[in-house]
Amino acid sequence: TKWVYSFGDGNAEGTRDMRDLLGGKGANLAEMSSLGLPVPPGFTITTEACTWYYTHDDSYPDGLDGQVEAALRAVGELTVRRFGDRDNPLLVSVRSGARVSMPGMMDTVLNLGLNDDTVPALARASGDERFAYDSYRRFIQMYADVVMGLDHHAFEEVLEDFKDGNGHSLDTELTAADWQAVIERYKKLVLEELERPFPQDPYEQLWGAIGAVFGSWNSARAITYRRLHDIPGDWGTAVNVQAMVFGNMGETSATGVAFTRNPSTGEKALYGEFLVNAQGEDVVAGIRTPQDLTEAARAATGSEAPSLEAIMPDAFAEFIGICDKLEAHYREMQDVEFTIERGKLWMLQTRTGKRTAKAALKIAVDMAGEGLITSQEAVMRVDPAALDQLLHPTIDPRAKRDIIGSGLPASPGAASGALVFSSDEAEEAKSAGRKVILARVETSPEDIHGMHAAEGILTSRGGMTSHAAVVARGMGKPCVSGAGMLRIDYRKGTMAAAGRTFNKGDIVTIDGSTGQVLLGEVPMLQPELSGDFAALMEWADKVRRMKVRTNAETPADARAARGFGAEGIGLCRTEHMFFEGERIVSMREMILAETEAGRRTALAKLLPMQRADFVQLFEIMQGLPVTIRLLDPPLHEFVPHTDEEIAEVAAAMKVDPERLRERALQLDEFNPMLGHRGCRLLVTYPEIAEMQARAIFEAAVEAGKETGSPVTPEIMVPLVGMKAELDLVRGRIDAMADAVAKETSTKIDYQVGTMIELPRAALRAADIAKSAEFFSFGTNDLTQTTYGVSRDDAASFLGAYQQKGLIEHDPFVTLDREGVGELVQIAAERGRKTRPDIKLGICGEHGGDPASIAFCEEVGLDYVSCSPFRVPIARLAAAQSAL
Ligand code: PEP
Ligand code: MG
Repeated sequence: TKWVYSFGDGNAEGTRDMRDLLGGKGANLAEMSSLGLPVPPGFTITTEACTWYYTHDDSYPDGLDGQVEAALRAVGELTVRRFGDRDNPLLVSVRSGARVSMPGMMDTVLNLGLNDDTVPALARASGDERFAYDSYRRFIQMYADVVMGLDHHAFEEVLEDFKDGNGHSLDTELTAADWQAVIERYKKLVLEELERPFPQDPYEQLWGAIGAVFGSWNSARAITYRRLHDIPGDWGTAVNVQAMVFGNMGETSATGVAFTRNPSTGEKALYGEFLVNAQGEDVVAGIRTPQDLTEAARAATGSEAPSLEAIMPDAFAEFIGICDKLEAHYREMQDVEFTIERGKLWMLQTRTGKRTAKAALKIAVDMAGEGLITSQEAVMRVDPAALDQLLHPTIDPRAKRDIIGSGLPASPGAASGALVFSSDEAEEAKSAGRKVILARVETSPEDIHGMHAAEGILTSRGGMTSHAAVVARGMGKPCVSGAGMLRIDYRKGTMAAAGRTFNKGDIVTIDGSTGQVLLGEVPMLQPELSGDFAALMEWADKVRRMKVRTNAETPADARAARGFGAEGIGLCRTEHMFFEGERIVSMREMILAETEAGRRTALAKLLPMQRADFVQLFEIMQGLPVTIRLLDPPLHEFVPHTDEEIAEVAAAMKVDPERLRERALQLDEFNPMLGHRGCRLLVTYPEIAEMQARAIFEAAVEAGKETGSPVTPEIMVPLVGMKAELDLVRGRIDAMADAVAKETSTKIDYQVGTMIELPRAALRAADIAKSAEFFSFGTNDLTQTTYGVSRDDAASFLGAYQQKGLIEHDPFVTLDREGVGELVQIAAERGRKTRPDIKLGICGEHGGDPASIAFCEEVGLDYVSCSPFRVPIARLAAAQSAL
């Protein structure tokens, strides 16, 4: 078996396509070498050797040692050095490199091969004794730490003691002789702590480092990381051994990192930093301030320190040429590491560069424009979830953050304002021209006006599908929910966290993209929906199969969604239309009425409001499909609780408040989410369905006349578990359609369908499809009922499940393919069997989640529906899943 792949001097045994075998770093080193780029010669030990190692009691396969020695000799020939040679020693770096970059594994050992015999040779070769002994002591420290397991703090203590004892305060004051003395103390420390000497034999050093890389693949941290990111344990890691080049050999040496385009703006300009006379670690360690690469960048930052372009023009020119070559070759923005040793440029790494959403968008569209990639590739290059960053204000990454707490990133974007603890206060402040953040333990329908008035919403309880989260996403407002460490005290008007107390009026900032709550007003970056965005969306729409609709109730939401490219309404939650103003009183009247007559009185008040709303929605949607869901209010969201609320409704109903209080108590439920809601309410009070159906049909007729094109409403029945429920409600709807058609002498086209949001409905889909022309998967409730996890209480324990690695994602955010997904699949298959042309969609929060959208494509749903601000995300995700 071939365990070792060599590279160097314009050749390589591997290629970039061999990531699985050589790891990402190794494959790209081979590729760069084949391209004729200056790569220090070296070799890669395969991931297969790693797999062999840990399936055979940490032993090496036969033949590996011979192959390593041969490869090492070849490196020696190219560099005119020999491993362990006293006159001309070869020194190497040893690095791990899995298929994907993975924290938790051994990173790097530099200067391997140094020992008491070879260090004088390094001093001679470099002409710098101090440098040689400093390198040796760094090697001992690094090697003892990562290979032998002796914490680096122990070494730092020794060094501090030495400096104190010799009147030094800075490392730079130490002479070669000082470092030699430190080295003796380091060796003594190793002997005392580990009861074995620091290895002097370079081969022993090398095998120790190889073993440490392999061993680190199964470190606790690496295992946890793999479990959380679905990385199989049998991938293994490769080991890269490479001739050392020194960026710290004086003023003509340097080391740096660069991106071939600006990773934060996407601008087509080399972007990076370097340090003169330094090793790689020094650049990232942040001890010295790195310098700009180009003159243009230096001029822009106004830095005093000269650019690489200015001080090493030849190496710089070569470097620029290499960056262009790499980008053209990989057809992707690259993140590279380089070292200049006494004026000679060496490339140490190249990989696809990480970037912000803004940069990803610009780079993808620019590269398609440059002809480097196709428009379809451009579509695949932008992470849909990251589009969120582009659609909302974000906290300036350079801003200081004083974090006072954190919760769930429930609705993206950032906002600042004065703390208020009630919706009325929020509204008052807003009308007085002040910006506020509404902080509540949780929100309820009564808070809608406050949520509208606030810049952002913060709750200490509730999950990703809590009322606050769902409504805020619908409004496109930032929301942090379930920030459990915040103690909100309505009575005192305070919010306490970690020993600090904040009062009403204190300015805070919430970041709904990360879940952070910050003190004070923090600088923001405003979204720019540039031409790039439109171009990418157009390309995405060309390849997309699924339609994208929106969940919207208000004209404002519907218009916003149209602006984002929604192709209809997939869910109009009619109960949300009653959250506002006077309407909630009539709604409560209806719910609290003790007789059908009482209910009909209240319904009669609601009818014109409903009709007017629907007319507007139909008009805005201009003939696009509109799915209207009949009332689905978990009763607890509407039953009044406070004296004030009870008095208000009692007055409207002209009944005794005490009587009303009793009725409210009667309606109290232990499990409202599993209680008298959805179609159960329509079964017990069919007059509600009648009123709503009438409002829909009358509105369809009116809007059809006004716009000149007929409207085909889709009427949806929620929380159906059996066909008989749907049949009963459908009977009322059909009868009302006939009645309105007669009254208006207009033919009415409509469809009746159902939500699939209970496991029983999914299982009985074949039967239910006999009466349903469409299904819409209500995956919020379907997740709640499949898991038996309350969507409003999940936050208090699902976080721990995620931390402990039991689940990777919150199932209320990303659809659980295995469980909930199987039910969706079953329902789709069974529904289609009965009715081959049945229309299938999804309207739970998952309809805006890219991973869940990919699942919807696999199941072959016709459309996804999501809150307005997620429509662009869904368009892109649907396109990617179709490609
Ligand atoms: C659902 O359950 O997924 C759904 C869309 O309905 P709601 O969130 O209104 O219960
Ligand atoms: Mg539901």
